[in-house]
Amino acid sequence: MGDSSNSTGRSNWSGGTGRTCYCGSIVRMFTSKTPTNPGRRFLRCGGTHGQRCSFFEWVDHEVAIIPGLLQRMKHVEEENMRLSASLLEIRESLKSLVSNLNIIKTCAIICLLITAWFMVFKQM
Ligand SMILES: [Zn+2]
Repeated sequence: MGDSSNSTGRSNWSGGTGRTCYCGSIVRMFTSKTPTNPGRRFLRCGGTHGQRCSFFEWVDHEVAIIPGLLQRMKHVEEENMRLSASLLEIRESLKSLVSNLNIIKTCAIICLLITAWFMVFKQM
């Protein structure tokens, strides 16, 4: 557990690997605790703080897909809710449009009747 202070609380040292990295230090395996990669293991330089090289390698490649998928699913659900709300609004607008159209239709029929009545009246 001696190295856990070097990992800024985002990962736990979980063992050595027997491999050596760019600087010749022993490569060590850690477990990620970040929200995007929970429980995903990675390899990093086992050198002491300040002397560590840039060696980094993921051990688990598939684990990261699950949080990504969950996040995308959340986005899709939010989008779905937004679309449902829009659809409801559109339905309401359509309803008022239809009722306006009915009023216009009624007016048109009355106009036609009045015109027809006047034409008949003129010929008499
Ligand atoms: Zn190294």
